[in-house]
Amino acid sequence: MRIAMIGTGYVGLVSGACFSEFGVEVVCVDKDESKIERLLRGEIPIYEPGLDKLVTSNAEAGRLSFTTDLKEAVKGADAVFIAVGTPTRRGGGHADLSYVYAAAREIAEAMDGYTVVVTKSTVPVGTGREVERVIRETRPDAEFDVVSNPEFLREGSAINDFMRPDRVVIGAETDRAREVMRTLYRPLFLIETPILFTSLETSELTKYAANTFLAAKITFINEMADLCEKVGADVHDVAKGIGLDGRIGKKFLHPGPGYGGSCFPKDTLALVQTARDSGAPLRIIETVVDINAKRKRQMADRIVEFCGGSMQGKTVAILGLTFKPNTDDMRDSPSLDIVPALIDAGATVRAYDPEGMDEAKKHLDGVVYCSGAYEAMDGADALVILTEWNEFRSLNLTRVKSLLKEPAMVDLRNIYDPKQMADQGFRYQCVGRPLRK
Ligand code: NAD
Repeated sequence: MRIAMIGTGYVGLVSGACFSEFGVEVVCVDKDESKIERLLRGEIPIYEPGLDKLVTSNAEAGRLSFTTDLKEAVKGADAVFIAVGTPTRRGGGHADLSYVYAAAREIAEAMDGYTVVVTKSTVPVGTGREVERVIRETRPDAEFDVVSNPEFLREGSAINDFMRPDRVVIGAETDRAREVMRTLYRPLFLIETPILFTSLETSELTKYAANTFLAAKITFINEMADLCEKVGADVHDVAKGIGLDGRIGKKFLHPGPGYGGSCFPKDTLALVQTARDSGAPLRIIETVVDINAKRKRQMADRIVEFCGGSMQGKTVAILGLTFKPNTDDMRDSPSLDIVPALIDAGATVRAYDPEGMDEAKKHLDGVVYCSGAYEAMDGADALVILTEWNEFRSLNLTRVKSLLKEPAMVDLRNIYDPKQMADQGFRYQCVGRPLRK
């Protein structure tokens, strides 16, 4: 089997590398020349644990290659995956599908022989049909099928998620296309991964249903955390108490500063638009979107209040800028709302993130970027944990105390124990837990 992966970002590069690990011949395409140049030099343009080894070994084995030449890559491919970005369109919540349709047109021009064109990007219901129309319009003679195969991997654990997924969803409507997809995913059939074959529309909607459900679950526990603070309950115990119920499940019940990242914010917005446009509004998801946007601002207010109500002349040390640990992805990270709000309020922000600093510098101005956690807190009035990187979980609290002006920590990820912090003499604030048990 030979495939072309159009778009070599977080999803395209991981999927391409994993398919090549399955023994498929993969050509990864990107129009970003610098990205391809780096890959050709053996450099990985994103931070994703384990990806460097996987890419290097498969490139050396001759199964994985990189190019900017889409036409060459598509020629003779059994399947062409579209893994380009689908960000929020300017001035509204719809997904911007211009990259998808541009890729579809280019693929159509280059296809020879029967080709399965697979949308791996997250795309609203109806996009697959439109891709089909675009290809047919460009190449009325072409022999092809369009398939939807949304990706469920998570940044930070992307390789394992791709290789051992909970399920694979494939929207394919001909036996021929289903057979190509079955062959590509053969190693997953062998380990008995549930593979769901559906229509195009069902597959496209399933991806949004999954992401918006998870965003709602996070938002639920965030609001529950607020209530816990008011009534003196512990949100972690509540989460455990409900999560042990198999109907609810334990995951995604950890409170924090609001969901972020390259998927949940844009996918919730896009599904809200699809639902409105279809005359079946999803009021629950509309509310989730609203609550989450407000939550990020409330987190900044919480820090200001913790610092005595004014940030004038105050310095805050921020640990963690990416939307979650083990990625360098800054897209829609809560830090992008919280840090500017603190600076606007008059604070000096000293920040450190293990992998996200290069990206952060493109988005956050006026920040003093530091080369380590302890450097960031040197002389600060308060320490704020924004992202729960492992290296922030066991800071030397004696050293922290000696560096801060006063021992004060806002832990928006609940990685420290309130009692231990109190015993160590810290003024400590977390999310949804009583400060003393
Ligand atoms: P990304 O921005 O990291 O990568 C997209 C790449 O596509 C870029 O490198 C861009 O240069 C390239 N590109 C755009 N148009 C192109 C064209 N015509 N030809 C060649 N290359 C082109 O995006 P991503 O995070 O990998 O997301 C891709 C899709 O997968 C999105 O729809 C996203 O919602 C979905 N998704 C993302 C994740 C995730 O965790 N990042 C998880 C599941 C699904």
